[in-house]
Amino acid sequence: MTAANHKTDESAEQAEFRARVKAWYDANATPKRDDSPWETNVHRDPADARRHFLTSKAWQGRLYEAGLAGIAWPEEYGGGGGKSWMTRIEREISLGYEEWVGFVGATIAMLGPALLRHGTEEQKREFLPKLLSAELSFCQLFSEPGAGSDLAALATRAERDGDEFILNGQKVWNSSAQFCDWGFVLVRTDPDAPKHKGITFLLVDMSTPGIEVRPLVQINQSAHFNEVFLTDVRVPVANVVGEINQGWTPARTVLSNESAFIAGARIPTRSKLIELAGDKGLLGDLVVRQDLANYYSRELISSWMGEQVQYAVRRGGSAPMDPGLIKLMASQNRRLSGDLASRILGADLDAGSGEKVNWAQMELLGRYSISIGGGTDEVLKNNIGERSLQLPREPGYDKNQRWREIPRS
Ligand SMILES: Cc1cc2nc3c(=O)[nH]c(=O)nc-3n(C[C@H](O)[C@H](O)[C@H](O)COP(=O)(O)OP(=O)(O)OC[C@H]3O[C@@H](n4cnc5c(N)ncnc54)[C@H](O)[C@@H]3O)c2cc1C
Repeated sequence: MTAANHKTDESAEQAEFRARVKAWYDANATPKRDDSPWETNVHRDPADARRHFLTSKAWQGRLYEAGLAGIAWPEEYGGGGGKSWMTRIEREISLGYEEWVGFVGATIAMLGPALLRHGTEEQKREFLPKLLSAELSFCQLFSEPGAGSDLAALATRAERDGDEFILNGQKVWNSSAQFCDWGFVLVRTDPDAPKHKGITFLLVDMSTPGIEVRPLVQINQSAHFNEVFLTDVRVPVANVVGEINQGWTPARTVLSNESAFIAGARIPTRSKLIELAGDKGLLGDLVVRQDLANYYSRELISSWMGEQVQYAVRRGGSAPMDPGLIKLMASQNRRLSGDLASRILGADLDAGSGEKVNWAQMELLGRYSISIGGGTDEVLKNNIGERSLQLPREPGYDKNQRWREIPRS
């Protein structure tokens, strides 16, 4: 299977849609510049990071106005009521332009399906159009210092007080929380139930008194993540998504969409690595050639795996492989790319300067982000083992124990 065969079998309706979307992009967006491939998405200056966030938020708003956001979502919730292939075509076209929805697009992909599936009618009518138009941006408030891979161990408490919950606790690693208007948060509402059964999923306005967001500065000097402290934060019971104490169900919907989004969002780097090797006169080096060939093949295989899954799903079939394999492959590729870029540059990685060196530094320093975010490689392998290989479940002593009685550090 090749990338081309999906385009050549396009129907007249699909070709007409492609032409219409392309015309809109040509009139409203900037074609990708030749000098931009080495730009990174790392913003060391907080003001610059905020500007970038607001720019992508505004771009999402433009797409919404043009009917190009939530193309396949139901019309009554702000979507276009279109077919899923329309979303694919729009995404393919968007890759040729500078404008990008960035993190805002990621949360739409994560939260949207969870609200569509588990939200009340009122929540869907209130929040989905605002999510799609980016009038409201949302951050994910799931992880805690003691709950990452074992997310269901989370300890942020929510106690009922009339028609409100009062939240107390701490979240961590919350991407872009310093810029977002709202959050979706997992809280413990029944400490006497087993850990998966006493969790509630809430929507929370980030300007509510008692929420403190502290950015975490990383090794690459940007602050992608935050710690979020919640002290006596009052949230209406009407903001519960799904059932009280059954928040693990919408959380799983978020997590599976997050993993798929991360796997699909990886931008290819093979041509950059080849260019770097050419710059350093290493294209004839046997070891570098071997590594480039390995990387080139892996990146192509990974994109073909993604296409095969999408191709099958678009035709109403089931995925021909566990979609988790694609995220696993994408995260292994990211590590290989960072390591290879640093070996090609050698001492220039430290001593050199310019946009290519900067790109290679960021590729190296950020190479573990995909293999941790949205679930670590190790946990994904456990899931694939259980789900696809039918291996016995990972032994666990606390699944049916009351959360309150589980030992915690
Ligand atoms: C780029 C990025 C963006 C993120 N954005 C968000 C966000 O917006 N909101 C949010 O809430 N969180 C976010 N996170 C946090 C992320 O979900 C957690 O980091 C992740 O789930 C791992 O949890 P942890 O960091 O607590 O590591 P731990 O769970 O403590 O894991 C430590 C190590 O132990 C291994 N391990 C743990 N359990 C097992 C097991 N059962 N079997 C085998 N190995 C195991 C892990 O694989 C890992 O190597 C983000 C993380 C990254 C990197």
